[in-house]
Amino acid sequence: MIVARAEHGVSRKDISPNALRVLYKLREGGFQGYLVGGAVRDLLVGGHPKDFDVATDATPEQVKSLFRNCRLIGRRFRLAHVVFGREIIEVATFRANIDDGSGDRETEDGGRLLRDNVYGTIEDDAVRRDFTANALYYAIEDFSVRDYVGGYQDCMDRVLRLIGDPVERYREDPVRMLRAARLAAKLGFTIAPDAAAPIPELAHLLAAAPPARLFDECLKMFLAGHAESSFRTLEDHGLLPALFPETAVALETNRSGALRTMLLQALRNTDERIAQDKPVTPAFLFAALLWPAYCRELAVLQKAGIDPLVAQQRAADRVTLHQAQRIALPRRFSQPMQEIWLLQPRFNQRVRKRVFRLLAHPRFRAAFDFLELRASGTPEVADDVAFWREAQLQAPEQLAERLDPKSPRRDGDADAAQAGEGDDDAPRKRPRRRRRKPGGSGGAPA
Ligand code: ATP
Ligand code: MG
Repeated sequence: MIVARAEHGVSRKDISPNALRVLYKLREGGFQGYLVGGAVRDLLVGGHPKDFDVATDATPEQVKSLFRNCRLIGRRFRLAHVVFGREIIEVATFRANIDDGSGDRETEDGGRLLRDNVYGTIEDDAVRRDFTANALYYAIEDFSVRDYVGGYQDCMDRVLRLIGDPVERYREDPVRMLRAARLAAKLGFTIAPDAAAPIPELAHLLAAAPPARLFDECLKMFLAGHAESSFRTLEDHGLLPALFPETAVALETNRSGALRTMLLQALRNTDERIAQDKPVTPAFLFAALLWPAYCRELAVLQKAGIDPLVAQQRAADRVTLHQAQRIALPRRFSQPMQEIWLLQPRFNQRVRKRVFRLLAHPRFRAAFDFLELRASGTPEVADDVAFWREAQLQAPEQLAERLDPKSPRRDGDADAAQAGEGDDDAPRKRPRRRRRKPGGSGGAPA
């Protein structure tokens, strides 16, 4: 189907000038040039594309010969990048989803795609894409939208529909299940019933997806302004256990719901920060996403009578190690994530020397923000939040005056600070001294 310019809302003024340059140049060179994929979809539903991809019948080598500022990348999937300062326009040659026996296309036993370099027609290129809404082509020659799979109507209806047989397409590439959840959350689309139905049963296939790719998908889900809705969509479709197995279990067994409350608050804050153009870091995000798993692990170790400090480090290491089998969280993020966790019990301290030491800690700010988050699920933490908020504002001399050089109340009581937050089922080892008058230690099951 061809949707003529007069019938659709994609306007050149919303398209990156560099992408337009590429399209015009391809046409001058005698090739076809189309804007494709997420950009067309986003423009049709009134969104702002974050990148502009181009599809063409020119081979990567032909593209390279047209542009001085072009480099070829990829082996498994050869692409041309046309570079304009900080903006890169990705130009892909039409590909086919067929095995022509040339060895340019390889699949693994389970149907997973390994190599994909067979060139084809625009129709071939359309049907190998994931969702119909992602398979629309904006033609520079007449400004029409070309639709070979019903994607235009699906965009209008705000539906994500897989092209072809959903089970087959998920087996071919399980990450498509995450893309369904992410795009539904981002765009406010619904997942078509036949595309949603097989997900819970096939979610386990994600275990075979490369952990580095899952990390990238996680950043797109949680650090692109729609973290909360992504999380809820993952939960709704049974995808959470495939990505964060231990967090999923911890949330299920946490009867008070404190951990879920806290996690959702963290995701909302992340979305707000992004909306306000404030920086966000994967370390803090993963600290929140894995906090339930950490609390649960810590509770188990403490129940076994292990020394609190040892238990904290061991719980942090175990959770990090287990999670790494699914999602490749680089060390430059996992290390500060652990620090954020390990600093939490220290907010319990009021001894002068220790207070000043914690205030001077390079990770203090992140750890304090995290403490504030915990207060959303565990109101008992509010005392500590109030104390440390004030401590940051006070002049050092003033603060020193308020603090005992030695506190009879809090010193050495940094253990079990959040064990109760994690595990409602395990009998908790109570701190020797009561820290707060009513209600007891942080995270008592409600
Ligand atoms: P976003 O707005 O998040 O960038 P997008 O749809 O543009 O969403 P990209 O990862 O940039 O997502 O992919 C560009 C296009 O490539 C998609 O629109 C889709 O047509 C195709 N595509 C991406 N990933 C897959 C996949 N796993 N299987 C099939 N086609 C895919
Ligand atoms: Mg894109």
